[in-house]
Amino acid sequence: MWENMEIGLEKASQEQLKQKPAQDSLGFGAHFTDHMFLMKWNRQSGWHDAKICPYHSFSLDPAAMVFHYGQAIFEGLKAYKGEKGQVYLFRPQENIERMNTSALRMCMPRLPLEKVFKALKALVYLDRDWIPTVAGATLYIRPTMIAVEPALGVRPSGEYYFFIIMCPVGAYYPEGFSPTKIYVTDKYVRSVKGGVGHVKTAGNYAASIMAAEEAHKAGYTQVLWLDACERKYVEEVGTSNIFFMINNELVTPPLGGSILPGITRDSVIQLARKWGMKVVERPVTIDEVIEASIDGSLTEAFGTGTAAVISPVGELCYKDKKYVINSGRTGLFSQRLFDELQAIQNGQQEDPFKWITRVG
Ligand SMILES: *Cc1c(COP(=O)(O)O)cnc(C)c1O
Repeated sequence: MWENMEIGLEKASQEQLKQKPAQDSLGFGAHFTDHMFLMKWNRQSGWHDAKICPYHSFSLDPAAMVFHYGQAIFEGLKAYKGEKGQVYLFRPQENIERMNTSALRMCMPRLPLEKVFKALKALVYLDRDWIPTVAGATLYIRPTMIAVEPALGVRPSGEYYFFIIMCPVGAYYPEGFSPTKIYVTDKYVRSVKGGVGHVKTAGNYAASIMAAEEAHKAGYTQVLWLDACERKYVEEVGTSNIFFMINNELVTPPLGGSILPGITRDSVIQLARKWGMKVVERPVTIDEVIEASIDGSLTEAFGTGTAAVISPVGELCYKDKKYVINSGRTGLFSQRLFDELQAIQNGQQEDPFKWITRVG
């Protein structure tokens, strides 16, 4: 079946080509490129009809199972442009592998890794003129799989679409780093061991919106999630993994089924260890973080994720009390990590871990 599946190519006509948005006001996720990748799955044929085609709308039956039972998974990665126009992807195979972990958990079909990797590279190459060249701006890539069989009843769908869409996005911090204010919620939880917190499935994000909205209304950028059982252990911040620098050790919660295994998280761990820093993956209680903030041993805190790469935390609010970290400024180590990762992603810095795939 898919082993010999060809990838079709249908290029957008002159009239279909879109006007590219101005690079200084890209925002995030607002503009989409000229092409997309699409392939379909059913029980008889497996994956089939794989093609790169003009970006277009779908017509779906209102009974399509994704609308009712939420079998939907996605990924997020970026393409970067180097100084001489080279095009790079950062650890792309790991996104496809992680999507297969998500697919397994959500009873969705496995993706053909090599085929999807080939399609991804071809799509990025075809739309390479959409990769912004201004500092810090990138092309965000969103692979997605949805259940499309028109049927009611809670069971695995018999039909799926897999697609990849892409959007140019502006620098996350156009005026340099600015640390975020984070609200520690003990009212809402994001995930629980045995659930789906470790997979990128759409329902996790739908379930998180209310906590984020309440945090925004109170003047905070995001929420910090605690474990669902005891509301005691730190898990993640918004849709990012979290790190603390305590007594000059980098500490992050261990992956245990309720935390998303971030690729940026793993990159930070590897880089910090290479620099000789002690990195410990262990349970961290919110009480320990607060105590360390009071006695001064907590010197930095930051989130990690593809969108912002490193997102310094300048303030925590827990049980109506505010705790300022590093006087609300970006820590030296956070800055160094950000600079190094960005330089590797742009091809400006040597890539000792072989994280970069060159596309064009
Ligand atoms: C995607 C995501 C992350 C970050 O993963 P990266 O691979 O580093 O982008 C962290 N937490 C959640 C909940 C996520 O959805």
